[in-house]
Amino acid sequence: MTGYGNPAVTESRGPMCPMGSSHPLSASPSVLVDAFDVALMDLDGVVYRGSEAVPHASRAIASARAHGMRVVFVTNNALRTPDEVARRLASFGVPAVPTDVITSAQAAARVLAARLPGGAAVLVLGGRGLRDAVNDVGLRPVATVEEQPAAVVQGFDPDIDYARLSEAALAIRAGAVWVASNADATVPTERGLMPGNGSLVAMLRTATGSEPIVVGKPERALHEESVRRSGARYPLVVGDRLDTDISSAVRSGTPSLLVLTGVVGPGDLLRAEPLYRPTYLSADLRGLFAGHPSVVVNGDGVPPQGVEVGGGPRSDDVSAVCGSWVAQVRDSTLTWRRAGPTTRAGGTRGTVDGVLSADGMPPDDGLDALRAACAAGWAAADRGAPVRALAGTRPPGCADLG
Ligand SMILES: [Mg+2]
Repeated sequence: MTGYGNPAVTESRGPMCPMGSSHPLSASPSVLVDAFDVALMDLDGVVYRGSEAVPHASRAIASARAHGMRVVFVTNNALRTPDEVARRLASFGVPAVPTDVITSAQAAARVLAARLPGGAAVLVLGGRGLRDAVNDVGLRPVATVEEQPAAVVQGFDPDIDYARLSEAALAIRAGAVWVASNADATVPTERGLMPGNGSLVAMLRTATGSEPIVVGKPERALHEESVRRSGARYPLVVGDRLDTDISSAVRSGTPSLLVLTGVVGPGDLLRAEPLYRPTYLSADLRGLFAGHPSVVVNGDGVPPQGVEVGGGPRSDDVSAVCGSWVAQVRDSTLTWRRAGPTTRAGGTRGTVDGVLSADGMPPDDGLDALRAACAAGWAAADRGAPVRALAGTRPPGCADLG
């Protein structure tokens, strides 16, 4: 991966992939910081992991800002206030102000404000972030069913106990609107995965027979709140999880960048269903400063040449080419080979530094073989014949495919 280049504000931003679509593994001839005006960035697994900073994150974010891209941080965590999140970011070397942070608590409060008259009582089953967000939209946080709440809003809070859950259950049973900040079943901690808000939501669902309105990723309300607050015209979702970050992008038709610094590995990506496939892929946030290569799948109307792997082509073969790699699925087995010079797909890839190889393609970032494998694997799965076995010899970036 190359460096960050000269900071220079670029005014001519716009989607590089067709219609700014979230089509999986699209080409971007421009570096992403030029193509998009706002990064809607996840936190855990992207900027930090638990108490550790993610390598390259703080410098990449600073460089993106210097380049004119706004970076806002979008979190499903409803416990912390935006001010607390901003201070936590600063401790990881990422300066941030509260308006750079959008929480699921704010999205939940927005949903409630649209449904309730000003000053309505809302039973808050959560922490300070949720109480503050309810106050900020002109609603009145309460704690008991005797205060006749018109709604219950539920977010993660480690101090929730049986008495508070019972108040919420009684209110929901009495007809209160029920909004949940997110439905994440678990929260990652240093000791492992602990029960998350989704687990407590499940308890109330069992107790009441009701269903909450969920606003956090992958649901659309938090995404819409992020676009609204950031003023994004060409947003790019940046995250490490397929089932929250990338899925929220796909559902809203927003391009996305998956970074491999969090919970998702190459094997998860290869097995991803259509709702979970990212537009762009990079090892870490330095991928904001790269253009991204095209990936051409046979059957897309542009059959790659020279992709036969012994015995000549067969009609049920699925192959994809990215950079100098061809991946092919035959009889549910995924194999790779080096592409010949004629197989390179038409897209180009640029960098901020403008470093290109002699044939107009920049050096492989180590993920082209994985991109080709995912595109071929997804196409095969979509045709009802998913990958079940992999070649023993793996190219770069594909060692951990499982
Ligand atoms: Mg994350």
